[in-house]
Amino acid sequence: MKTIIEPFRIKVVEPIRMTTREERERLLREANFNLFLIRADDVLIDLLTDSGTGAMSSLQWAGIMRGDESYAGARSWYVLQDRIRELTGFEHVLPTHQGRASERILFELVGGRGKVVPNNNHFDTTRANIEHTGAQAVDLVIAEGRQASARHPFKGNMDLAKLEALINDAGPERIPLVMVTITNNSGGGQPVSLENLRGVRRICDHYKLPFFLDACRFAENAWFIKQREAGQDSRSVREIVRDIFDLADGATISAKKDGLVNIGGLLLLRDLGLVRRADELLILTEGFITYGGLAGRDLEAMAQGFDEVVHEDYLRYRVRSTEYVGERLLAAGIQIVEPPGGHAIYIDAQHFAPHIPPERFPGQALVVGLYRHAGIRAVEIGSVMFGQSGTAPAMELVRLAIPRRVYTQSHMDYVIEAIIEVFRRRGELRPLEIAWEPPSLRHFTARFREL
Ligand SMILES: *Cc1c(COP(=O)(O)O)cnc(C)c1O
Repeated sequence: MKTIIEPFRIKVVEPIRMTTREERERLLREANFNLFLIRADDVLIDLLTDSGTGAMSSLQWAGIMRGDESYAGARSWYVLQDRIRELTGFEHVLPTHQGRASERILFELVGGRGKVVPNNNHFDTTRANIEHTGAQAVDLVIAEGRQASARHPFKGNMDLAKLEALINDAGPERIPLVMVTITNNSGGGQPVSLENLRGVRRICDHYKLPFFLDACRFAENAWFIKQREAGQDSRSVREIVRDIFDLADGATISAKKDGLVNIGGLLLLRDLGLVRRADELLILTEGFITYGGLAGRDLEAMAQGFDEVVHEDYLRYRVRSTEYVGERLLAAGIQIVEPPGGHAIYIDAQHFAPHIPPERFPGQALVVGLYRHAGIRAVEIGSVMFGQSGTAPAMELVRLAIPRRVYTQSHMDYVIEAIIEVFRRRGELRPLEIAWEPPSLRHFTARFREL
């Protein structure tokens, strides 16, 4: 069957608002052509991020009512701890309010000046938390992972030769741990193979280094392994997930992605010494070790989300519907990062708008064009986001991140249609200049002018 069927029916609806073109022209001018400064109510289809934007199930909402709000030892905490132990095999589970809180605790303990932390590609909060301690964050994804049109089934893989070279150059004593991000968010949501994770484990064993996962999208990654890796297709996603976690000494997780909740995070550890020190920091800034900055109801919803995310009907629909958007755009001649990743489609904006040079922000011009034409919100990942330091980013991209279980296939058809219409009239996309910018992280608040 060709039709992608959502493996759920809809029990609660939330209206979204159609705006007129005139309204959107005014809203764009008022927001100084920065889509972060537009109210969500004025967006028809919001593809800004897949983080914390998913829809919860009826069982998760039932869990919200069941939540035990006791300060210490709440029943909801034990429900979550049991689920995560069963899913990952990790004995020590620390709850946090989101992924970056787990990163902050971990790197406060193992980071510091002179340290070097390798990863396939550090996510921006991971990098920021590492650098905040004075340590250095190094990206070692394979070469294919850096090229938009290079096809590779596991474009998120770590370059094992480069990892070993880095360990030898820096000296193993300067490397507190090796990290791998699954799926590789900053590299287009591309998966990492089980074989590659085993290779990283072997190198870590050889140099006696801990191996940590940034496991925000562990279930999507496991699904790709089942689909693409030799000998894995007859195994269940749960088995593959367990294999992945069994390789690691620890993991940081944002539950806002594959936890299928709107807020929450986890830090998983094996080393008891590290657990004791992490518990101390957890209590210092997040909360007691049985709630970690969350309400009891959040823990309950998370426990259920981590169960639902490994259902194979869900993962088939999830990955296939993202792939479908990518296929249709490619068929229309629009270059995307290939093959499509798990949670998002990344459009090559320089290819889309060749008449706009990087210093006139082709990605931002496309983001503005999509909103103007169809009320769709996407995000620029190019010279606006990364160009402030004066270094040119490798690619000018626009990311369409797909929230989990929120939009139907007809919403996606509308998005595809709109992008293709903008592409046919791409000569009308207008270059931009920056009218004002803050000293750092300018993409959130910069003001633009259309030229
Ligand atoms: C979202 C994300 C994080 C950070 O999680 P938050 O919940 O946003 O703090 C870390 N790593 C990756 C790969 C992510 O996608």
